Amino acid sequence: NTSLHELDPEIAAAVDAELDRQQSTLEMIASENFAPVAVMEAQGSVLTNKYAEGYPGRRYYGGCEHVDVAEQIAIDRVKALFGAEYANVQPHSGASANQAALFALAQPGDTILGLDLAHGGHLTHGMRLNFSGKQFNVVAYHVDDAGLVDMAEVERLAKEHRPKVIIAGWSAYPRQLDFAEFRRIADEVEAFLWVDMAHFAGLVAAGLHPNPVEYADVVTSTTHKTLGGPRGGIILARQAFAKKLNSSVFPGFQGGPLEHVIAAKAVSFKVAASEEFKERQARTVEGARILAERLTAPDARAAGVNVLSGGTDVHLILVDLRESELDGQQAEDRLHEVGITVNRNAVPNDPRPPMVTSGLRIGTPALATRGFTADDFTEVADVIASALKPSYDVDDLKARVKTLADKHPLYPGLNK
Ligand code: PLP
Repeated sequence: NTSLHELDPEIAAAVDAELDRQQSTLEMIASENFAPVAVMEAQGSVLTNKYAEGYPGRRYYGGCEHVDVAEQIAIDRVKALFGAEYANVQPHSGASANQAALFALAQPGDTILGLDLAHGGHLTHGMRLNFSGKQFNVVAYHVDDAGLVDMAEVERLAKEHRPKVIIAGWSAYPRQLDFAEFRRIADEVEAFLWVDMAHFAGLVAAGLHPNPVEYADVVTSTTHKTLGGPRGGIILARQAFAKKLNSSVFPGFQGGPLEHVIAAKAVSFKVAASEEFKERQARTVEGARILAERLTAPDARAAGVNVLSGGTDVHLILVDLRESELDGQQAEDRLHEVGITVNRNAVPNDPRPPMVTSGLRIGTPALATRGFTADDFTEVADVIASALKPSYDVDDLKARVKTLADKHPLYPGLNK
């Protein structure tokens, strides 16, 4: 029963330092969030000790009666949350969910059609070095000059290449996708439609974004981004795909499920069905809209700052620095210096190399979870706009960030 601090002070110190970093800075990486204490409690529970290969009621190990309860609750809750016929809550991560989904829908060598990584797609949607790019014949669609997914190109490529699977989903895109149009195109070429809603699942759960489950054959997601749960993945689908997907996850790609994480997922699905969660997602989207407005204002434009697609419908914005004297790396460093964490991000047809880039991806989910209001987001947006100008007052911006962080304490009970 030795505590972490007693048993391993070096790791305890790293954990404490990370808690302090999360508490004292403003987290604006679009894929991050703060899991509730109850979620972390489930994830840190004795369920981590249990082997449970198989599925509830059909396990290859004894003693699964309690983890069966937790996993079945997770399945039932996530099906209800998104209106899905089938759910698999075992994928260890978003990438694992995508791997299992893709191999259930297609064979190596088949053609897949997804959004280009450099235009906002994800590694698992066909990137050269990823399993998807190595084992499948990848055709990529792009965004147009306005920064919107080019549906005419999707249709043209689908007809030309007749893919087995069309992938709709993104890691860096500020608008809603037209799922009905994706479905129409998929039907026309007899392709499966797979939607990866990893980024926007929380908005879907809150009813603030069209629900891809109504259109797609298979929907995958992470549970830790807008959805606000533990790190992990899920797969939702029509019942017809249940057997293939279950066997693709286990024994196809995974061994024993992480029942402690699955229990934590269940807790986060309960939270995601609440009114408080809906209100939080509304503040998330409102915060992103405020950021977009501020970073397209005349003084930001004069500093060479702009926002791709001119705004946002979701929880993130993509800052375009092609006309700024700052590149993505320098802009990321400046915001880091004042206490705001974001990630640099390539813009379509980026003139700078991938490790430098000409853009930033800035998201609002973590700050909305922390309780930030529209007024707070207005202040954050002003701090960011100021930091991206040719000259800026570091001490003043640091002080403003500290005031915001102090106003919304994070995990107040966790400090040792
Ligand atoms: N799918 C999309 C659209 C993502 O943005 C991500 C994460 O960045 C993933 C899948 C992969 O999730 P994970 O990092 O949990 O493997």
